[in-house]
Amino acid sequence: MLKGVISNTENLRLKDSKYVWHAMKGAAPDPSLLIAESAEGAWVTDVEGKKYLDGMSGLWCVNVGYGRTELAQAAYDQLDKLPYFPLSHSHGPAIRLAEKLNQYLDDDYVFFFSNSGSEANETAFKVARQYYQQKGEANRYKFISRYRAYHGNTMGALAATGQAQRKYKYEPLSQGFLHVPPPDLYRNPKDADTLESAEAIHQLMTWELGETIAGVIMEPIITGGGVLIPPENYLKRVKEICDHHSALLIVDEVICGFGRTGQPFGFMNYGVKPDIITMAKGITSGYMPLSATAVRREIYEVFIGEETNDRFRHVNTYGGSPASCAVALKNIDIMEQEGLFERSKVLGERFLRDFQVLMKNKYVGDVRGKGLLLGIELVKSKETKEPIELEKINEVVKACKEKGLLIGKNGDTVAGYNNILQIAPPLNITEDDYQFILNTVKESLQVI
Ligand code: PMP
Repeated sequence: MLKGVISNTENLRLKDSKYVWHAMKGAAPDPSLLIAESAEGAWVTDVEGKKYLDGMSGLWCVNVGYGRTELAQAAYDQLDKLPYFPLSHSHGPAIRLAEKLNQYLDDDYVFFFSNSGSEANETAFKVARQYYQQKGEANRYKFISRYRAYHGNTMGALAATGQAQRKYKYEPLSQGFLHVPPPDLYRNPKDADTLESAEAIHQLMTWELGETIAGVIMEPIITGGGVLIPPENYLKRVKEICDHHSALLIVDEVICGFGRTGQPFGFMNYGVKPDIITMAKGITSGYMPLSATAVRREIYEVFIGEETNDRFRHVNTYGGSPASCAVALKNIDIMEQEGLFERSKVLGERFLRDFQVLMKNKYVGDVRGKGLLLGIELVKSKETKEPIELEKINEVVKACKEKGLLIGKNGDTVAGYNNILQIAPPLNITEDDYQFILNTVKESLQVI
């Protein structure tokens, strides 16, 4: 009986609209809802058999593509051997994964494992606050982040987020989070020389008293907020400012990590060494939930006290589960074997060159990206740079979907920025996939 019901796609739609609460969607049934059934490479097949190229890697996470039997096997083998054990003790997959991640990070970090990007960021905030408390600087509790950035859905990570649309219905959020404008080279090109977006952090720290600031959190490149590529020396200058005020630099690599920007981690494009690094998504290519907070050893050592109170009072049941860690190890192995970091870099440069022809379209104000992280900013007029209407960008996304390509768009309807198309396909897309993305985006821009 149950089998009959779920094999009927109409029934599936009906029951979905009745029982499933979807991310970022209203209660009205969506007749165009994609109900996925299977996937292979960059392509997802829905329950009606229609295929879509997933130009967003799910939610920016399926970096090695779908259908990787090795990852399924790694999960199966580990679940069979040791399905669960908490990291208040330890197990081989977590130890091996921490060691492996450390190899990318100059052997200078220790790792706290959780399940999601939000939790990884919450962990970073708690580490930073306790670190300063234990150093006798309990006044340092504030964090600075940027408008337009997203850092997660929990009360602290959402407080760090700089998108009003996602926040204002849930306030008051966690205390002590301050914001500055992000670099936006399209709208403020002179920032490349003045670095005024970085100097804004210095100013804010000075006004707030540097000794009250625990840290600055930022993605190396703002991703979901519109693919904002910073000036070349921005991150370096931010690190100098943090050092000057003795605040920690926390880099959110939840999207930028694991090859998305053409380097193992996004910050590696900019020559800095963060104090804390948070990662999720691409760590398992989304095959299992897992995140990590990498903390510089000197910070960690402040927690090795005799007093119980000096320990990190933080635990989660599932963080770093053995199967998630085993999948992460295999996933990183695939990326290395197939040269996917380099591939992301090379293909990203090619996309940027090929997408430049889109600049001929009167609504395309800017095309930008790093690695396989691409943004196309649509404007009403190239002179005024006024963002294009929401309906128009929605039409482009819809046209792509009808042609079988899933792409994303940023969204902050409260602040008026929802005019940037976002593309972040799996790092192993084929030549045919590449051409399909290019042509479909070009054609879909013709509908407006
Ligand atoms: N940081 C960034 C930069 C993100 O893009 C996201 C999620 N899109 C998060 C944190 C939160 O991750 P999660 O949804 O896994 O909690």
